[in-house]
Amino acid sequence: MYDFHLHSHFSNDSTASMQSMAEKARSIGLKGICFTDHYDLEYQSTEINFEFSYDEYLDELNNLKASLPEGLEIYSGIELGMQPHLSTKNEALLKGKNFDIIIGSIHCVGKKDIYDRSFLEGITEDEGIINYFGDMLKCIDNFKNFDILGHMDGIRRYLYNKDESFSLDVYEELIQSVLSKLVHSNKGIEVNTAGLRYGLSTFHPLPDILKLYRTLGGEIVTVGSDSHSPEYLGYGIKNALATLSDLGFKYYTIYKDRKPIFIKI
Ligand SMILES: [Zn+2]
Ligand SMILES: [Zn+2]
Repeated sequence: MYDFHLHSHFSNDSTASMQSMAEKARSIGLKGICFTDHYDLEYQSTEINFEFSYDEYLDELNNLKASLPEGLEIYSGIELGMQPHLSTKNEALLKGKNFDIIIGSIHCVGKKDIYDRSFLEGITEDEGIINYFGDMLKCIDNFKNFDILGHMDGIRRYLYNKDESFSLDVYEELIQSVLSKLVHSNKGIEVNTAGLRYGLSTFHPLPDILKLYRTLGGEIVTVGSDSHSPEYLGYGIKNALATLSDLGFKYYTIYKDRKPIFIKI
């Protein structure tokens, strides 16, 4: 099993060393892990800065690879914060940097933070959700340099009643539009199991959304815990794979050098 979404201290909301994550991965028998540290240009909060030194990141990653006994595969990635106005800046940021995978995630809507719910100020939740998928569509249209769309319905975490007011039927047109664009540009989605830790009924995205993605011809699905500490590494991944299998997926995906590799479930 692989965990393809996790953070280390290069993300400013984590204090975990890469070594501690790798040790945990070995202890629970994972085959490989991919570090996907946050890089969010113009993150819309003054509290935290989600940027890191690529050189220091590579140094620690390479030291880790050199010090590890055989048996655990280590991949390099980034979780890139996408906002509609950042396409050119994000493109420039990635220049000259090599990652195995780029996860593109939406953490801000309308230049407002999702995490602290400022994206809902003065509007209804319904409007907030529509704005979220609207920004997502603009990002996908204008920026192509990513492989996987991160926690596609991550907005569910930040609604006032968790995800009670969210279902595929209500937002199907927008969601289908996002998924179709991904399928046609050979990009994938991820099953992000962190939703379970945030008190949601299921992981991201809803199984109904995964089903729709498959119906539209989507085959690229990575799986990750989005853990920010060793404690949650690998969390829920077995269940996620079982759900994918129930939905008819025969493979999940990892990436090396930005190319998908399909792993039998
Ligand atoms: Zn994220
Ligand atoms: Zn993450």
